Amino acid sequence: MPVKNRFAELLPEITGWRRDFHEHPEILFDTHRTAGRVAELLKEFGCDEVVEGIGRTGVVGVIRGRADTKGRVLGLRADMDALPIIEATGLDYASKTKGAMHACGHDGHTAMLLGAARYLAETRNFDGTAVVIFQPAEEGGGGGREMCQDGMMERFGIQEVYGMHNWPGQPVGSFAIRPGAFFAATDQFEIEVEGRGGHAAKPHETIDTTVVASQIVIAFQTIVSRNIDPVQQLVVSVTSFETESKAFNVIPQKVTLRGTVRTLDKEVRKLAETRLIKIAEATADAYGATARVSYMRGYPVMVNSEEQTQFAAKVASNVSGSCGDAPLIMGGEDFAFMLEERPGAYVLVGNGDTAAVHHPEYNFNDDAIPAGCSWWAGIVEERMPTA
Ligand SMILES: [Zn+2]
Ligand SMILES: [Zn+2]
Repeated sequence: MPVKNRFAELLPEITGWRRDFHEHPEILFDTHRTAGRVAELLKEFGCDEVVEGIGRTGVVGVIRGRADTKGRVLGLRADMDALPIIEATGLDYASKTKGAMHACGHDGHTAMLLGAARYLAETRNFDGTAVVIFQPAEEGGGGGREMCQDGMMERFGIQEVYGMHNWPGQPVGSFAIRPGAFFAATDQFEIEVEGRGGHAAKPHETIDTTVVASQIVIAFQTIVSRNIDPVQQLVVSVTSFETESKAFNVIPQKVTLRGTVRTLDKEVRKLAETRLIKIAEATADAYGATARVSYMRGYPVMVNSEEQTQFAAKVASNVSGSCGDAPLIMGGEDFAFMLEERPGAYVLVGNGDTAAVHHPEYNFNDDAIPAGCSWWAGIVEERMPTA
């Protein structure tokens, strides 16, 4: 099964939706126009059910196959949100909203999944149910988490979930995937170190917070070097060291440290968090200071399930002739929350030689649409074949 002919026919229409989304980017959960358009189209396609307002502005469409002998239900997920970037593409369909831009290609993801939904609603050539999921707020807002918290998986009986992201630098329409940990957990921390401020010429009357905070930064380096198994990956970076006073002759009362922790394993993540808090608090205590740690868990590690990854790679090979091995990616991906609830897989589809995602000159490559849509259709038809 190479690229499906039907998608060549639908290409102008799908491209039209994509460019319309591109022209009207919306950020985080404010994807009202996009969600409205998605729901309208899903109804037009004849989806059996279209539900809006899941995870605030998320949309779910249900498409039943011509048979349902085994009760199988697959979830296919796309993201709808844009980024707070000023677009510099010069395209005639460039963003009409200053300061918002589809710089991660979610316009393309939404359009491709709509194309697949249209095809699946038209053909129904599968035994089971396809649930198309359109989520808001992938870029830092946790829209996927909110859809899960709204009980989406249970409500629609979803058994497996699949996701896709375009990838600049990878040949257009080609696929790459990896089993296991794929995208990193991205946590943040803020630490307020408080000592006793005073005159810089009388250090003995102070508890010098700059010295204490410096010890904490240095001690953090032992989390990677001494606490974690050397074959595991972990990044602990202090990215900001801010003293309360900027004067030459004042020992500041407070220092604020900020940074990020990146991990690819649940246990490593837990250990890094525990050690970071302990080291900050105990080091401060040793000098008579205090450290208040706010540790903010972001997206979890995104883990592709073994079996579903093999299946997704097979479908990709059927579409494009082969499926490459994707590298580990230290960025985060909100689809991780859905993969924590259900087995599934996330694939990269090549965007060709374009600017990188999140760059003001980036644009989703419409040439990837036939391959992307065919992969979605293949996931449904090959996972739930009719007898
Ligand atoms: Zn992005
Ligand atoms: Zn993205």
